[in-house]
Amino acid sequence: MKNVFVPAGDRGVGAEVFDQLRIFGITVHEFAGADEVLRLARNLGGGVLLADAARIEREPAFVAELGRIKRELDGALRILFYSVRDDFETRLKAVRAGGEGFFQLPVDATRLADRIDGFLAESASEPFHVLIVDDDAEEVAFNALVLQEAGMITSVATDPSQVVPILVEAKPEIILMDMYMPGCSGSELAALIRQNEAFAAIPIIFLSVERDLEKQIGAIRRGGDEFLEKPIKPEHLVASVQMRAERTRSIRFFIERDSLTGLLNHTHLIERLGTEILRARRAGDVLSFAMIDLDRFKAVNDRYGHLMGDQVIKSLSRLLSERLRRTDVVGRYGGEEFGVILHGADTRRAGRIMDELREAFSQVKHRVDGSEFSVTLSCGIAGYPEYMSPTELVEAADRSLYRAKERGRNRIVLEDPPAV
Ligand code: GH3
Ligand code: MG
Ligand code: MG
Repeated sequence: MKNVFVPAGDRGVGAEVFDQLRIFGITVHEFAGADEVLRLARNLGGGVLLADAARIEREPAFVAELGRIKRELDGALRILFYSVRDDFETRLKAVRAGGEGFFQLPVDATRLADRIDGFLAESASEPFHVLIVDDDAEEVAFNALVLQEAGMITSVATDPSQVVPILVEAKPEIILMDMYMPGCSGSELAALIRQNEAFAAIPIIFLSVERDLEKQIGAIRRGGDEFLEKPIKPEHLVASVQMRAERTRSIRFFIERDSLTGLLNHTHLIERLGTEILRARRAGDVLSFAMIDLDRFKAVNDRYGHLMGDQVIKSLSRLLSERLRRTDVVGRYGGEEFGVILHGADTRRAGRIMDELREAFSQVKHRVDGSEFSVTLSCGIAGYPEYMSPTELVEAADRSLYRAKERGRNRIVLEDPPAV
């Protein structure tokens, strides 16, 4: 849950916008003074303080308190000012008062949620997840400890045959691998991992006593990215792993994500559907695939312009990312079409989840030049194991989506299992 704190009585943003923030998973708390916001933010693990820039002039004491609150919360509270004015003077005052962001009124809930999310995302990035492969259990334990102390999450494999299943299940983002293991060498294992398209890009760092440069280069040629010699200082190990992981994350983000929404793009959504089916099969589990298409979206573009249309697409993507569980996968399938992979949900359960989302989205008010409008969506759902391959699942969900449109839009249709 994300939390926003506003001085009691500050209604400049609009009570309705505050109400709508709830749809995006953001709770608004009012506070009466510095001590109260300090206590609230401490209890709730931080958040965003939202205040009218007019307060800066009106109440200098308030500004002085902001500085103290920020210091005491040590970065866990971000400050965002708003104003009906957007001029240099106002913005400068906001900066001097400790504001880290600024927006002009009027604002709609989607844009505001966007700003708040962006703010919170900057301060909390997920820990890196490292898989350590080494036949020496002591070595594994030591390296795992070093990386954990640096705030990373670790998975371990002492047997090379465990590696691919761990890659599928636990999804580490970087591999630290010993060169010499009984039964299978590190470079063989690297080559084997690379044969799988889904793991073609995962960074592999070799960690070995090998001093022979020829052999080190050979290992990298077969699929490794870097070679570290044992013994290695803990801080050197941490820095190497961290740098690789950071780079890979930022590159992956641009390759896999759609630039407007930050969701998985078409190719990577379908690729994920493949790996999720594999995982469901192995675990004897079910999953559902939902295809969403915005209703009468051409008319939205025609009436309010393409940029506003883009805002609507963003608001849906935000809602999807916010409302679904972390384990669910959301992608932008095409222009105004989205795909969602729901773990462990049969089509009936997925239908209920998507119907709540449909309802929530229809309540989002998009604001343009003083007027408001809302948009609806239609959705078709198909399930594994009724449909066994990504292609079959997508086609079946698409057929249901078509039916949802036929039956009048703004609804969910579940695909029947295939006739046998
Ligand atoms: P319905 O799906 O309910 O049958 O009607 P529709 O009007 O949504 O029809 P259709 O799905 O055929 O049209 C989709 C429209 O969405 C066409 C295109 O202009 C618009 N669109 C697609 N991608 C984007 C985008 O990235 N941004 C904006 N603003 N519009 C887009
Ligand atoms: Mg469409
Ligand atoms: Mg459409």
